[in-house]
Amino acid sequence: MTGTRVLVLNSGSSSLKYQLLDMRDSSRLAAGLVERIGEQTSRLKHTPLAAGGDAREADGPIADHDAALKAVAQELARDGLGLDSPDLAAIGHRVVHGGMFFTEPTVIDDAVIAEIERLIPVAPLHNPANLTGIRTARALRPDLPQVAVFDTAFHTTMPESAARYAIDPRIADRHRIRRYGFHGTSHAYVSRATAELLGKAPEDVNVIVLHLGNGASASAVRGGRCVDTSMGLTPLEGLVMGTRSGDMDPAVIFHLARVGGMSMDEIDTLLNKRSGLFGLCGDNDMREIRRRIDEGDEAAALAFDIYVHRLKKYIGAYYAVLGTVDAVAFTAGVGENAAPVREAAVAGLEGLGLAVDPGRNAVRGDRPRIVSPDAARVAVAVVPTDEELEIATQTYALVGKNT
Ligand code: ADP
Repeated sequence: MTGTRVLVLNSGSSSLKYQLLDMRDSSRLAAGLVERIGEQTSRLKHTPLAAGGDAREADGPIADHDAALKAVAQELARDGLGLDSPDLAAIGHRVVHGGMFFTEPTVIDDAVIAEIERLIPVAPLHNPANLTGIRTARALRPDLPQVAVFDTAFHTTMPESAARYAIDPRIADRHRIRRYGFHGTSHAYVSRATAELLGKAPEDVNVIVLHLGNGASASAVRGGRCVDTSMGLTPLEGLVMGTRSGDMDPAVIFHLARVGGMSMDEIDTLLNKRSGLFGLCGDNDMREIRRRIDEGDEAAALAFDIYVHRLKKYIGAYYAVLGTVDAVAFTAGVGENAAPVREAAVAGLEGLGLAVDPGRNAVRGDRPRIVSPDAARVAVAVVPTDEELEIATQTYALVGKNT
């Protein structure tokens, strides 16, 4: 392997996010996003981080992912970072669902593509989009190693007691129903970075990671290995999220179908896209919810309370799962930025050794930091996640090993 650059691609159904990193120092050379692929109003936003200068935006129809990646390649070439460069060592792809099959980052070949395809029934929204990105990138650079990094991989260490639902295992196995968990790349990165923040090896610490973005999930990590996580067969289970309900009595679904007369697709849309904070108060952005609470808005206040109540329950549950906890780490958009969420989530948990120091908690920053008082038994930390860096690191390590 001669190159030191890795292109990270995160391909959604109508979007393509990318970052180009130099693995000699993990620096970011360029980053960007193509949105609304397939529509008339597509937009490419490219930030030439290494070259400096302002972000460049281009509007106009981009028909498909192939055209999107070619447009990205052109922008990179303008910065002298073309994808045909020998400096490019590999392309790393975020793949949402790796099932039980993929426990590690994997070099992509036809058999790997076929297996990701086989998982489409359990990830109908995400895996097809991820595959489109993979196929497009392979067509553009067939000679280059491409690596799939799976959102589920970090969670494959969960014991059966945490991964199984309490249903007939024959039915579960026939339909591959089990708790897979998601955001694994973030949970892996943040749990490691938290150990580093504490000055310890990952093997020596137990961490509860709270990834609170638009999607949200918690994980219990014992000695660097995930032992439980809040998302399940799909990302719908667990915490209250921006637009997803999280945990609910499954009978609500029967009730909505039988009594409410809703179709399965309507219920799917309701629970995934129109529930959570958005369903409760009409907003899914925590900034807007806090602003409304400050103005005395009751619906926003109740949405916040339900969100925090669920979060607190998971902290307690994972404390019990782990037995002893060294740190609770908050990450992603809400976790990194919303001090009131962090404060409310651990309020009243002094008996468990958990507290935030109001002064420390109020300080903003983009570095990992501890926001609990010095005397606290358990560290409460804010640890910015970096899924792209993690994907690039895993990709580069794997390609380096294979060459
Ligand atoms: P995702 O990657 O899941 O789309 P992010 O991790 O970027 O999400 O988080 C997005 C969410 O973070 C927003 O919906 C918003 O609720 C929250 N957020 C971002 N910035 C702030 C902030 N300054 N204060 C409070 N919440 C914030």
